[in-house]
Amino acid sequence: MEKTPSSESSERIIGAGWQKLATFLTHAGRQKPERDGSFVNPPIERGSTVVFPTVADMEAQGAQAYEHELVYGAMGNPVQHELERVIAALEGGQHTQVVNSGLAACTVALLAFLKGGDHLLLPDSVYGPTRRFAVNFLARFGVETSFYPPRANEAELRAYMKPHTAVIFAESPGSHTFEVQDIPLLARMAHGVGARLLLDNTWGIGAFQPFTHGVDVSIQALTKYPAGHADVILGAITVQKPEDWRALRRAAIELGACGAPDECWLTLRGLKTMAVRLAQQARSAYALAQWLESRPEVACVRHPALPSCPGHAFWKRDFQDASGLFGVELAAGITQEAMIAMLDGLKLFSIGASWGGYESLVLPTSGGLTRHHEEGFPSGAAFRIQVGLEAVEDLQADFARGLAGLAVK
Ligand SMILES: *Cc1c(COP(=O)(O)O)cnc(C)c1O
Repeated sequence: MEKTPSSESSERIIGAGWQKLATFLTHAGRQKPERDGSFVNPPIERGSTVVFPTVADMEAQGAQAYEHELVYGAMGNPVQHELERVIAALEGGQHTQVVNSGLAACTVALLAFLKGGDHLLLPDSVYGPTRRFAVNFLARFGVETSFYPPRANEAELRAYMKPHTAVIFAESPGSHTFEVQDIPLLARMAHGVGARLLLDNTWGIGAFQPFTHGVDVSIQALTKYPAGHADVILGAITVQKPEDWRALRRAAIELGACGAPDECWLTLRGLKTMAVRLAQQARSAYALAQWLESRPEVACVRHPALPSCPGHAFWKRDFQDASGLFGVELAAGITQEAMIAMLDGLKLFSIGASWGGYESLVLPTSGGLTRHHEEGFPSGAAFRIQVGLEAVEDLQADFARGLAGLAVK
């Protein structure tokens, strides 16, 4: 028996939100034409030492360390600074710091806004390496971490807050389990006790405007859609308030966090086509998610634009579009081994971590997942899909073959 696919959210045209970014992204970060002409794209400049004609000039430039200006290679390079301006505009913030990976964006942001004796609240659905950093590393410096259920309401959240809570961290939707969070509520709770709200906005790039919803610090793994071709590792941290920029920039300088010129250049290039890639990938992912939800071998699909996704109402209220990454939970009775055999047999979906590239991927969810709270744990065999730029009919046919080989009790 086919289940009826959910149609409630079809009033929002998936992929249309990205189209609104197309003009901005096509023009952002390009060279301004000089009188003698210049290439469209900026040059890559590699370097460590920056030389000056006089000591006075060097000292004057040193005072520009907070201004996205060239001071020393470890404090940024011209392409990095251009990328920082583009990401700040895309996220709707004032200043961006680019760092060497998406994970470093999470860790540098936490180090910038926490000190020994502080309390950190992480959502239970947080990206695994962020959890690991808090539990293994921050704990050694006297930062206490608690894990709150990602969809906790105000009263439940209050029970997790402590007098020394300095950061509430959010990730919406959550890694692997895709719970969409109530960001304005989290912002109110944080600001009510003088804490900051940090958001890992990687899934929501371009689709969720963090600063209009009360976020103080927005984190991006540029590795994903911005770079977009599975060939770059890079991250970004964006803030809105001058005092947050001072704290973030100081931490980045003190930690030696920066982005290599080649990685920044490839990311600037990737951004030029991000709107068209994402529009296509978001449409294909939504179509595939709806089709999978109708299949008897599938118990549920965790795609924020589907009403069955935990926190769908927050997606509908706060997001302009969806992304191309979602989760699938198979029907009871389908074993982990049968699921893995199916994933192994897919022709167009490679097996691999990361996402946001042009290529389709699958990754088993169950097995490596850590959760403090039972809620949200997939009950059956589960996996994650990253939808690439292939034709959606081909992707669906690949899954039709795979699902047909699964025995459903
Ligand atoms: C991939 C990812 C990161 C880490 O990015 P890397 O560049 O791979 O280090 C952080 N947060 C989220 C949500 C991610 O998906």
